[in-house]
Amino acid sequence: MTGKDPASELKKLGIRPSKSMGQNFLVDGGIADWIVAQAEIRPHESVLEIGPGLGILTRRLANLTDNLTVVELDRRLADKMNAMPGVHVIQGDILEVTLPELDKVVSNLPYQISSPVTLRLLEHGFSRAVLMFQKEFAEHLVAGPGEPAYSRISVMVGYRAETRILKHVGKGSFYPVPKVDSAVVSIIPRKPDFTILDENHFSETVRILFSHKNRKVRNGIMSEHAALRLDKTQAREIGDILPHNDKRPITLSPAQLAEISNVLVEKGMTFPRS
Ligand code: SAH
Repeated sequence: MTGKDPASELKKLGIRPSKSMGQNFLVDGGIADWIVAQAEIRPHESVLEIGPGLGILTRRLANLTDNLTVVELDRRLADKMNAMPGVHVIQGDILEVTLPELDKVVSNLPYQISSPVTLRLLEHGFSRAVLMFQKEFAEHLVAGPGEPAYSRISVMVGYRAETRILKHVGKGSFYPVPKVDSAVVSIIPRKPDFTILDENHFSETVRILFSHKNRKVRNGIMSEHAALRLDKTQAREIGDILPHNDKRPITLSPAQLAEISNVLVEKGMTFPRS
Protein backbone atom coordinates (compact mmCIF):
# COMPACT_ATOMS: atom_id res chain seq x y z
CA MET A 1 0.00 0.00 0.00
CA THR A 2 2.65 2.53 0.98
CA GLY A 3 6.03 2.86 -0.67
CA LYS A 4 4.56 2.74 -4.19
CA ASP A 5 6.64 4.51 -6.75
CA PRO A 6 4.57 7.40 -8.19
CA ALA A 7 6.31 7.32 -11.57
CA SER A 8 5.26 3.74 -12.28
CA GLU A 9 1.86 4.22 -10.66
CA LEU A 10 1.16 7.17 -12.97
CA LYS A 11 2.38 5.21 -15.95
CA LYS A 12 0.01 2.39 -15.09
CA LEU A 13 -2.86 4.87 -14.95
CA GLY A 14 -1.75 6.42 -18.23
CA ILE A 15 -1.28 9.83 -16.60
CA ARG A 16 1.40 12.30 -17.57
CA PRO A 17 1.72 14.80 -14.69
CA SER A 18 0.00 18.04 -15.66
CA LYS A 19 1.73 21.37 -14.98
CA SER A 20 -1.50 23.33 -15.28
CA MET A 21 -3.05 21.18 -12.52
CA GLY A 22 0.03 21.65 -10.35
CA GLN A 23 0.70 17.92 -10.27
CA ASN A 24 3.84 17.38 -8.24
CA PHE A 25 3.29 14.36 -6.08
CA LEU A 26 4.85 14.07 -2.64
CA VAL A 27 7.05 10.99 -2.53
CA ASP A 28 8.49 11.16 0.98
CA GLY A 29 6.43 9.00 3.34
CA GLY A 30 8.22 10.41 6.39
CA ILE A 31 7.15 13.94 5.49
CA ALA A 32 3.60 12.72 4.82
CA ASP A 33 3.50 11.16 8.33
CA TRP A 34 4.80 14.37 9.85
CA ILE A 35 2.30 16.64 8.01
CA VAL A 36 -0.67 14.51 9.04
CA ALA A 37 0.52 14.43 12.67
CA GLN A 38 0.57 18.26 12.79
CA ALA A 39 -3.20 18.36 12.23
CA GLU A 40 -3.88 16.49 15.52
CA ILE A 41 -6.93 14.77 14.07
CA ARG A 42 -9.39 13.18 16.47
CA PRO A 43 -11.69 10.33 15.42
CA HIS A 44 -14.84 11.51 13.56
CA GLU A 45 -13.47 14.99 12.90
CA SER A 46 -14.51 16.34 9.52
CA VAL A 47 -11.33 16.57 7.44
CA LEU A 48 -10.84 17.97 3.94
CA GLU A 49 -8.00 17.15 1.59
CA ILE A 50 -7.64 19.20 -1.59
CA GLY A 51 -5.98 17.50 -4.56
CA PRO A 52 -5.30 14.05 -3.06
CA GLY A 53 -3.42 12.95 -6.18
CA LEU A 54 -2.20 9.39 -5.70
CA GLY A 55 -3.25 9.45 -2.05
CA ILE A 56 -0.03 9.67 -0.04
CA LEU A 57 -1.75 11.93 2.53
CA THR A 58 -5.22 10.45 1.98
CA ARG A 59 -4.30 6.95 3.19
CA ARG A 60 -2.89 8.39 6.39
CA LEU A 61 -5.87 10.69 6.96
CA ALA A 62 -8.35 7.87 6.38
CA ASN A 63 -6.66 5.93 9.20
CA LEU A 64 -7.43 8.75 11.65
CA THR A 65 -11.01 9.76 10.85
CA ASP A 66 -14.10 8.22 9.29
CA ASN A 67 -15.20 11.64 8.05
CA LEU A 68 -12.74 12.46 5.25
CA THR A 69 -13.71 14.40 2.12
CA VAL A 70 -11.32 14.79 -0.80
CA VAL A 71 -11.77 17.17 -3.74
CA GLU A 72 -9.84 16.21 -6.88
CA LEU A 73 -10.11 18.00 -10.21
CA ASP A 74 -8.43 15.31 -12.32
CA ARG A 75 -11.14 12.76 -13.12
CA ARG A 76 -8.66 9.91 -13.55
CA LEU A 77 -7.24 10.48 -10.06
CA ALA A 78 -10.70 11.00 -8.58
CA ASP A 79 -11.82 7.66 -10.06
CA LYS A 80 -8.84 5.95 -8.47
CA MET A 81 -9.68 7.61 -5.13
CA ASN A 82 -13.17 6.12 -5.29
CA ALA A 83 -11.62 2.72 -4.71
CA MET A 84 -10.43 3.86 -1.29
CA PRO A 85 -12.97 2.73 1.32
CA GLY A 86 -14.53 5.29 3.64
CA VAL A 87 -13.41 8.35 1.67
CA HIS A 88 -15.98 10.80 0.32
CA VAL A 89 -14.66 11.80 -3.12
CA ILE A 90 -15.83 14.96 -4.88
CA GLN A 91 -14.59 15.27 -8.44
CA GLY A 92 -14.37 18.99 -9.21
CA ASP A 93 -12.63 22.31 -8.68
CA ILE A 94 -11.99 23.23 -5.05
CA LEU A 95 -12.89 26.84 -5.87
CA GLU A 96 -16.37 25.78 -7.00
CA VAL A 97 -17.63 22.67 -5.22
CA THR A 98 -19.92 22.79 -2.18
CA LEU A 99 -17.94 21.96 0.94
CA PRO A 100 -19.17 20.18 4.06
CA GLU A 101 -18.64 21.65 7.52
CA LEU A 102 -14.98 21.23 8.38
CA ASP A 103 -12.76 20.78 11.40
CA LYS A 104 -9.38 20.26 9.72
CA VAL A 105 -7.84 20.75 6.31
CA VAL A 106 -4.68 18.88 5.32
CA SER A 107 -3.30 19.22 1.78
CA ASN A 108 -0.36 19.46 -0.51
CA LEU A 109 -2.01 22.04 -2.72
CA PRO A 110 -1.89 22.81 -6.42
CA TYR A 111 0.27 25.92 -5.97
CA GLN A 112 -1.24 28.07 -8.72
CA ILE A 113 -4.47 28.48 -6.74
CA SER A 114 -2.88 29.00 -3.29
CA SER A 115 -4.32 32.44 -2.76
CA PRO A 116 -8.00 31.87 -3.71
CA VAL A 117 -8.04 28.48 -1.93
CA THR A 118 -6.73 29.97 1.31
CA LEU A 119 -9.26 32.81 1.20
CA ARG A 120 -12.11 30.42 0.37
CA LEU A 121 -11.22 28.15 3.28
CA LEU A 122 -11.16 31.11 5.67
CA GLU A 123 -14.59 32.22 4.44
CA HIS A 124 -15.89 28.70 4.90
CA GLY A 125 -14.44 28.06 8.35
CA PHE A 126 -12.34 25.33 10.02
CA SER A 127 -10.36 24.99 13.24
CA ARG A 128 -6.90 24.16 11.86
CA ALA A 129 -5.30 23.78 8.45
CA VAL A 130 -1.93 22.22 7.68
CA LEU A 131 -1.08 23.07 4.09
CA MET A 132 1.92 22.74 1.81
CA PHE A 133 2.58 25.81 -0.34
CA GLN A 134 5.33 27.14 -2.53
CA LYS A 135 7.96 28.53 -0.15
CA GLU A 136 7.62 32.13 -1.35
CA PHE A 137 3.84 32.05 -0.91
CA ALA A 138 4.29 30.66 2.60
CA GLU A 139 6.61 33.57 3.38
CA HIS A 140 3.95 36.03 2.18
CA LEU A 141 1.35 34.33 4.36
CA VAL A 142 3.30 34.67 7.58
CA ALA A 143 4.85 38.12 6.97
CA GLY A 144 4.02 41.00 9.32
CA PRO A 145 3.98 44.80 8.77
CA GLY A 146 7.32 46.23 7.61
CA GLU A 147 8.71 42.88 6.46
CA PRO A 148 9.67 42.62 2.79
CA ALA A 149 7.19 39.79 2.11
CA TYR A 150 4.27 41.69 3.69
CA SER A 151 1.59 41.97 1.02
CA ARG A 152 -2.15 41.87 0.41
CA ILE A 153 -2.42 38.16 1.17
CA SER A 154 -0.52 38.63 4.49
CA VAL A 155 -3.19 41.13 5.51
CA MET A 156 -6.22 39.23 4.21
CA VAL A 157 -5.14 36.05 6.00
CA GLY A 158 -3.32 37.61 8.97
CA TYR A 159 -6.27 39.61 10.24
CA ARG A 160 -8.33 36.48 10.85
CA ALA A 161 -5.84 33.67 11.45
CA GLU A 162 -2.56 32.77 13.14
CA THR A 163 -0.13 31.48 10.54
CA ARG A 164 3.18 29.75 11.03
CA ILE A 165 5.75 28.05 8.81
CA LEU A 166 6.20 24.62 10.37
CA LYS A 167 8.73 23.09 8.00
CA HIS A 168 10.62 23.68 4.78
CA VAL A 169 10.46 20.90 2.21
CA GLY A 170 12.95 20.64 -0.66
CA LYS A 171 12.17 19.99 -4.31
CA GLY A 172 13.58 16.47 -4.08
CA SER A 173 10.56 15.31 -2.03
CA PHE A 174 8.28 15.50 -5.09
CA TYR A 175 7.76 13.74 -8.40
CA PRO A 176 8.19 15.25 -10.92
CA VAL A 177 10.82 17.43 -9.24
CA PRO A 178 9.41 20.99 -9.32
CA LYS A 179 11.38 24.19 -9.91
CA VAL A 180 10.38 25.67 -6.54
CA ASP A 181 10.88 24.81 -2.90
CA SER A 182 7.95 24.26 -0.56
CA ALA A 183 6.92 24.91 3.02
CA VAL A 184 4.28 23.49 5.34
CA VAL A 185 2.17 26.14 7.05
CA SER A 186 -0.37 25.94 9.87
CA ILE A 187 -3.38 28.26 9.76
CA ILE A 188 -5.51 28.66 12.87
CA PRO A 189 -8.47 31.03 12.47
CA ARG A 190 -9.31 33.52 15.23
CA LYS A 191 -11.51 36.59 15.44
CA PRO A 192 -9.79 39.93 14.75
CA ASP A 193 -9.56 42.21 17.81
CA PHE A 194 -10.74 45.25 15.82
CA THR A 195 -13.87 46.12 13.88
CA ILE A 196 -14.24 46.07 10.13
CA LEU A 197 -17.38 47.91 9.05
CA ASP A 198 -17.54 46.29 5.61
CA GLU A 199 -15.41 43.25 4.73
CA ASN A 200 -15.64 43.74 0.95
CA HIS A 201 -14.68 47.35 1.29
CA PHE A 202 -11.74 46.40 3.50
CA SER A 203 -10.58 43.88 0.90
CA GLU A 204 -10.76 46.52 -1.87
CA THR A 205 -8.99 49.13 0.28
CA VAL A 206 -6.15 46.71 0.90
CA ARG A 207 -6.01 45.82 -2.79
CA ILE A 208 -5.77 49.45 -3.86
CA LEU A 209 -3.28 50.49 -1.17
CA PHE A 210 -1.05 47.47 -1.81
CA SER A 211 -0.91 48.21 -5.53
CA HIS A 212 1.28 51.11 -4.29
CA LYS A 213 2.61 49.51 -1.15
CA ASN A 214 5.75 51.62 -0.90
CA ARG A 215 3.99 54.89 -1.59
CA LYS A 216 2.44 57.00 1.16
CA VAL A 217 -1.25 56.29 1.56
CA ARG A 218 -2.31 59.75 0.34
CA ASN A 219 -0.19 59.39 -2.81
CA GLY A 220 -1.54 55.91 -3.47
CA ILE A 221 -5.08 57.27 -3.35
CA MET A 222 -4.06 60.06 -5.76
CA SER A 223 -2.59 57.55 -8.23
CA GLU A 224 -5.80 55.52 -8.13
CA HIS A 225 -8.19 58.45 -8.44
CA ALA A 226 -9.47 57.38 -11.86
CA ALA A 227 -10.14 53.81 -10.71
CA LEU A 228 -11.93 55.25 -7.67
CA ARG A 229 -14.00 57.49 -9.96
CA LEU A 230 -12.74 60.64 -8.23
CA ASP A 231 -11.31 63.79 -9.71
CA LYS A 232 -7.95 64.91 -8.38
CA THR A 233 -9.43 67.45 -5.97
CA GLN A 234 -11.74 64.86 -4.44
CA ALA A 235 -8.88 62.35 -4.20
CA ARG A 236 -6.70 64.94 -2.44
CA GLU A 237 -9.47 65.77 0.03
CA ILE A 238 -9.95 62.12 0.85
CA GLY A 239 -6.20 61.55 1.12
CA ASP A 240 -6.07 64.44 3.61
CA ILE A 241 -8.64 63.02 6.00
CA LEU A 242 -7.45 59.41 6.10
CA PRO A 243 -5.71 58.07 9.19
CA HIS A 244 -2.07 57.02 8.60
CA ASN A 245 -2.04 58.98 5.33
CA ASP A 246 1.70 59.75 5.64
CA LYS A 247 2.64 56.12 6.16
CA ARG A 248 3.39 53.49 3.56
CA PRO A 249 0.90 50.59 3.36
CA ILE A 250 3.71 48.08 3.81
CA THR A 251 4.20 49.41 7.37
CA LEU A 252 0.51 49.33 8.37
CA SER A 253 -1.02 46.57 10.49
CA PRO A 254 -4.36 45.02 9.49
CA ALA A 255 -5.97 47.07 12.30
CA GLN A 256 -4.57 50.33 10.86
CA LEU A 257 -5.70 49.35 7.35
CA ALA A 258 -9.16 48.65 8.78
CA GLU A 259 -9.21 52.16 10.28
CA ILE A 260 -8.63 53.57 6.79
CA SER A 261 -11.38 51.44 5.25
CA ASN A 262 -13.78 52.30 8.08
CA VAL A 263 -13.27 56.06 7.62
CA LEU A 264 -13.97 55.67 3.90
CA VAL A 265 -17.13 53.68 4.63
CA GLU A 266 -18.30 56.29 7.13
CA LYS A 267 -17.80 58.98 4.48
CA GLY A 268 -19.96 56.96 2.10
CA MET A 269 -16.94 56.34 -0.10
CA THR A 270 -17.42 53.00 -1.84
CA PHE A 271 -15.25 51.46 -4.54
CA PRO A 272 -16.56 50.60 -7.98
CA ARG A 273 -15.81 46.90 -7.32
CA SER A 274 -16.94 46.53 -3.72
N1 SAH B 1 -1.67 15.67 -2.56
C1 SAH B 1 -0.99 14.92 -3.57
C2 SAH B 1 -1.01 15.60 -4.94
C3 SAH B 1 -0.48 16.99 -4.99
S1 SAH B 1 -0.41 17.59 -6.65
C4 SAH B 1 0.42 14.64 -3.14
O1 SAH B 1 0.90 15.29 -2.22
O2 SAH B 1 1.09 13.80 -3.74
C5 SAH B 1 -1.86 18.65 -6.68
C6 SAH B 1 -3.16 17.87 -6.82
O3 SAH B 1 -4.24 18.80 -6.90
C7 SAH B 1 -3.27 17.00 -8.07
O4 SAH B 1 -3.84 15.77 -7.72
C8 SAH B 1 -4.20 17.79 -8.99
O5 SAH B 1 -4.90 16.99 -9.90
C9 SAH B 1 -5.13 18.44 -7.97
N2 SAH B 1 -5.79 19.68 -8.42
C10 SAH B 1 -5.31 20.63 -9.25
N3 SAH B 1 -6.15 21.67 -9.37
C11 SAH B 1 -7.22 21.38 -8.57
C12 SAH B 1 -8.45 22.06 -8.26
N4 SAH B 1 -8.73 23.25 -8.80
N5 SAH B 1 -9.32 21.47 -7.41
C13 SAH B 1 -9.03 20.25 -6.85
N6 SAH B 1 -7.89 19.57 -7.11
C14 SAH B 1 -6.99 20.11 -7.95
